[in-house]
Amino acid sequence: MSKLSCEIIRDILPLYYDNVCSDDSKSLVEEHLDHCQSCKLELDRLKVDFEIPKEEIETIRNDSNVIKNISSLWKRSKIKSFATGVIISLVLVLLISFGYNRLFHLNTVNVPTNVMEISQVSQLSDGKIVFHFEVTDGYALNETIHDMDKNGNFYITPVRPVIKKKAQPPYGMANDYYFIDIEQEELHRDSAEIKAIYIGTPKENILVWKDGMDLPKASKEIENMFHFE
Ligand SMILES: [Zn+2]
Repeated sequence: MSKLSCEIIRDILPLYYDNVCSDDSKSLVEEHLDHCQSCKLELDRLKVDFEIPKEEIETIRNDSNVIKNISSLWKRSKIKSFATGVIISLVLVLLISFGYNRLFHLNTVNVPTNVMEISQVSQLSDGKIVFHFEVTDGYALNETIHDMDKNGNFYITPVRPVIKKKAQPPYGMANDYYFIDIEQEELHRDSAEIKAIYIGTPKENILVWKDGMDLPKASKEIENMFHFE
């Protein structure tokens, strides 16, 4: 065979290898390969070039394992981070609602005495001490804490949340008549004698009444408010 014929064969050898040439070309190539060692070698070289080496296949397999591992790890970490997210959200909701409650509803702040006004301290016909109490700063009041120390000092402590609400009419506890039934209060506190009544805290307060103080009789108007016969 001529040298030219070898060159032509090598041109179509890749097509032959891929089995995409015509039957005529195919038989031509085979005929030539039967007696041309160098073209046969060329075909072998093609095979080697196109075959993927074993270690490379191994690497690819490992890579796909790595991908599998990563995806399963990712799935696991996704579940984990979802759970973490749920827990964090719950804690946040609790903290926010606790904070909200504390700021807006829990009565944790004492009303200062400079915005308290006490007037018409008097005594009802049944002995109860009565007075008018007003908070003058324009904010609502809905709780007072009653407490007595071991010396018989009785404290009525008005308390409010950190975030105050504007007082709306009717002003309720922020502008109302208060009464103290000393006998009842003493019974509640193991018959300990009440010696004095204060509005405020043990540290900051306004005296309403103390033992020995003579109080005027309550007006008819006030009397009618507390007796419903
Ligand atoms: Zn040849």
